[in-house]
Amino acid sequence: MKTQSSIRRMTRQRRLLLDTLDRKNWHPTADEVYRIVKMKAPRVSLGTVYRNLDILSKEGVITKIEEAGSQRRYDGNPRPHYHVHCLKCGAIADMPDEAARWLNIPKMELPDFKITGHRLIFEGYCAHCQDKEEMDGKGN
Ligand SMILES: [Zn+2]
Ligand SMILES: [Zn+2]
Repeated sequence: MKTQSSIRRMTRQRRLLLDTLDRKNWHPTADEVYRIVKMKAPRVSLGTVYRNLDILSKEGVITKIEEAGSQRRYDGNPRPHYHVHCLKCGAIADMPDEAARWLNIPKMELPDFKITGHRLIFEGYCAHCQDKEEMDGKGN
């Protein structure tokens, strides 16, 4: 059973995490979130941050971005949206909302599978890495 004070502590930690993630076009890893939260609440542990981020994403309050071969990231924006991933530095940015309309993925039926959604990541080079490409003379 949870005591009143542990519930209060949980609420405070959630608030802190949501405030930290409340920035547009920002997709930090749990470690990055932890570093910022720690400045405001020095006693919070990395485990607590991980656990609460997981709970918040399960509740649909935030978005969890999982991609094979790279660290899990979090997004304060809970609405479904696509991301673009820089092939050079790994930066992640939001795709414009129109991206969903360009794709217009139809609902699919598979006999042995119940499809609940899909994940898609666009790839390219961020502004910073594009500049570098040009300076190196490797641009197309
Ligand atoms: Zn980049
Ligand atoms: Zn996003």
